[in-house]
Amino acid sequence: MEQMERGADDKFHDECGVFGVFGSPDSSALTALGLHALQHRGQEACGIVAFDGTHFNSRRALGLVDSTFSHASAIAQLPGHAAIGHNRYATTGDTNVRNIQPLFADLACGGFALAHNGNLTNAHTLRQALVEKGSLFQATTDTEVFLHLMAVSRKAAPCDRLVDALHQVQGAYSLVALADNMLIGVRDPLGIRPLSLGKVGEAVILTSETCALDIIGAEFIRDIEPGEMVVITEEGIASSRPFEKPRNPRFCIFEYIYFARPDSFMENRSVYEMRKNIGAELAREAPCPSADLVVPVPDSGVPASIGYAQTSGIPFELGIIRNHYVGRTFIEPTDHIRHLGVKLKHNANSAYIKGKNVVLVDDSIVRGTTSRKIVDMMRSAGAKEVHMRIAAPPTKYSCFYGIDTPKTTDLLAHNYGVDEICKLTGADSLSYISMDGLYRAVGEIRRNNDIPQYCDACFTGEYPVPLTDFENNRTGANVTDLRERQERRSR
Ligand code: AMP
Repeated sequence: MEQMERGADDKFHDECGVFGVFGSPDSSALTALGLHALQHRGQEACGIVAFDGTHFNSRRALGLVDSTFSHASAIAQLPGHAAIGHNRYATTGDTNVRNIQPLFADLACGGFALAHNGNLTNAHTLRQALVEKGSLFQATTDTEVFLHLMAVSRKAAPCDRLVDALHQVQGAYSLVALADNMLIGVRDPLGIRPLSLGKVGEAVILTSETCALDIIGAEFIRDIEPGEMVVITEEGIASSRPFEKPRNPRFCIFEYIYFARPDSFMENRSVYEMRKNIGAELAREAPCPSADLVVPVPDSGVPASIGYAQTSGIPFELGIIRNHYVGRTFIEPTDHIRHLGVKLKHNANSAYIKGKNVVLVDDSIVRGTTSRKIVDMMRSAGAKEVHMRIAAPPTKYSCFYGIDTPKTTDLLAHNYGVDEICKLTGADSLSYISMDGLYRAVGEIRRNNDIPQYCDACFTGEYPVPLTDFENNRTGANVTDLRERQERRSR
């Protein structure tokens, strides 16, 4: 059984992008383009499954979309009028071909391909029960549980079997699935992960983010609602509700802060604008009157820095230049490589930094590796003062719902207070946006502490979906960690 404590040895967890097309002879090509636009959601592996009316054709590979699907020959092997695709990022080790999605199974009701963004919190428990009854699992990803639950369902139609499975899983999921002449999209009951519906010509599109609609010239129709299932066939789009409409959906607030692309819209809001708003709130909450320049940590800190600069009136400059041919530092598998990665990725624009008081704006501090390096880099480039402003509250708790974060005990803010973190990073001052400031930035008056409007578990430890596998203590998770989470949830 895999360990499920969050961290570098976590083999069960994916950050992902999903995409689906129904009703186009170019389904696979459109899906490849969609996956290109969603590349930031997962860079370790990708795959497409297309349905040509008789066969399911698939291709899955480790690596970027560009290296797997940019050749016409790859697309030619994936004929069909419907297709689904997946970008995957699992933390390390268990990055093998068996885990690359879409997964496929030959069920009694026919072929079924599935792509999942999110993370299930009772997958180990379900898996163990299924294995005891004879299920033979092929992969180690939690997504496979859906297929085994569908396989033992007594319902006839694939979407009814899927509904049976949905009623047994817990966690966060946006799913796109392909059955015989049918594309299916589902969002989990609280709508933690995003999923949008679009159209290009006669073809219907499902995508994790709207930026993937733009790349293929598709128009946005609407977001799939929390707890909603859409079934797309030649007859059109049928919506159903396997789960009652939630009174309090809990969309992931970290999509706004970091994960989504800034040119996407989520819940009908521009992600870029939300990030600028966070920067503006931060400028009001944590001004830095002595500063000469606002400098973003590129790329994720850019929109918040613009908001900070516009509100404070302090000039914005690109004081750090990013090498775009290096991936996200965070995805490097070992600490050693991660450190090298930061050096490869960023360089000080010393002509603008020398002799200046600088406000550095970044979206978040996780382990603190980036902040330490960047502050040091600013000082080496001759900055007089370096002030850090962070466009998220302190990241104190692991995410169990589909954002890759190290285990709680490796999070800098779990172990240290703001003043200590400031000292550790070497900055002259450090401020994070407050929780209410963050909620104001995304359009709320304040956080409703009784029924929060978003999932913000990474900041508060209040997990809206039970962490069943942990509570069953079958995972080797640290007990103090567990107890602390349980206490917070029961408050
Ligand atoms: P660290 O160096 O560990 O403190 O990581 C902080 C940097 O990682 C920030 O600059 C963020 O832009 C980025 N980051 C935050 N969360 C994630 C995530 N889940 N996946 C990848 N990168 C992240």
